[in-house]
Amino acid sequence: MEWCVSMPKIELHAHLNGSIRDSTLLELTKALIGKGAINFSEVEHIILKYNRSVEEVFKLFDLIHILTTEHNTVARITREVIEDFASENVVYLELRTTPKRNDSVGMSKRSYVEAVLKGLRSITSVDVDFIPHCEDSKTLFTPAPAIDGHARKRIFVRLLLSIDRRETTEAAMDTVKLALEMRPYGVVGIDLSGNPSIGDWTTYLPALKFAREQGLYVTLHCGELPNSKEIKNMLDFRPQRIGHACFFEDEHWRQLKSSNIPVEICLTSNVRTMTVPSIDVHHFAHLYNAKHPLVLCTDDSGVFSTCLSKEYKIAADSFGLGRREMFELSRNAVEYIFADSKIKEDLRRNFNSVAKKYG
Ligand code: 5GP
Repeated sequence: MEWCVSMPKIELHAHLNGSIRDSTLLELTKALIGKGAINFSEVEHIILKYNRSVEEVFKLFDLIHILTTEHNTVARITREVIEDFASENVVYLELRTTPKRNDSVGMSKRSYVEAVLKGLRSITSVDVDFIPHCEDSKTLFTPAPAIDGHARKRIFVRLLLSIDRRETTEAAMDTVKLALEMRPYGVVGIDLSGNPSIGDWTTYLPALKFAREQGLYVTLHCGELPNSKEIKNMLDFRPQRIGHACFFEDEHWRQLKSSNIPVEICLTSNVRTMTVPSIDVHHFAHLYNAKHPLVLCTDDSGVFSTCLSKEYKIAADSFGLGRREMFELSRNAVEYIFADSKIKEDLRRNFNSVAKKYG
């Protein structure tokens, strides 16, 4: 496991509220129980369960969202999640979260994102780069020779704003407009997520099309359920990346491969939610052998008790891949990030500087 931890890695599919630390989740739960706001016996089975179905995972998210309504909590979990990724040598993180409006605590979608930014700014234990560079400005990071050593950790963070499948077309459009306003603060794209059994994704097409026209990148949760028509239509839309791709049929694989859309692979999440029956039949192997662009991701490191190093270890052990292959897999992910070419250059240089260790 050690080399999986020390190896530089790129995380492109991590949901903020799904990546909350267990200890923080428990602390927030106790605080709300103390206030009488929730009854532990009602939530115990959701919190303590190990294997959760997709539906149960979404019940857990509803509970987590009750615990994380305060601006300060949003800022805190943002800080902790980034510290956790940096501590295992994630050098570039695209963190996604659904901006939430909650009138009872004076929260608007904008103030939610501002709380996330407050969390980003509050980090002192590692160096965080989240403000995009001007074309002619120098990089904030000097090319680092020690991204996997014992030097102070450095991490690039960019944000994706998620549209939840429970939202209306108008609410999705508000999220896209907010993302455009927040571009100077590191928002690079839009994600469509939320319970895949709810709603029709075409509700969000106007917002997704607008996002793309305006130069935002788009990634879609695709194929978490056997919904052939939706999968086909999503691939027709040509998002810049997709997440999961579990219930693909032959025609979808053909379409995916001919369009070369990179896939965010979430091994533990897929096995735990039973969208893939077991790791040995996971489509990772199929895509990897076909040399299709893919990136290993955590999805919800808190909810699924995982971390990116663990996902690399699982892939290495399950599919018989060595350090060199895993390093190349990690390095290739640079090409699928949504940040600008300058960041890509920085990351390529950084990976090159440690490549010998994994050769
Ligand atoms: P948040 O956006 O609140 O920071 O993170 C939690 C939210 O991300 C969930 O409520 C859900 O909308 C979305 N999410 C997290 N994991 C998954 C997943 O595996 N599949 C889908 N479709 N959505 C997810």
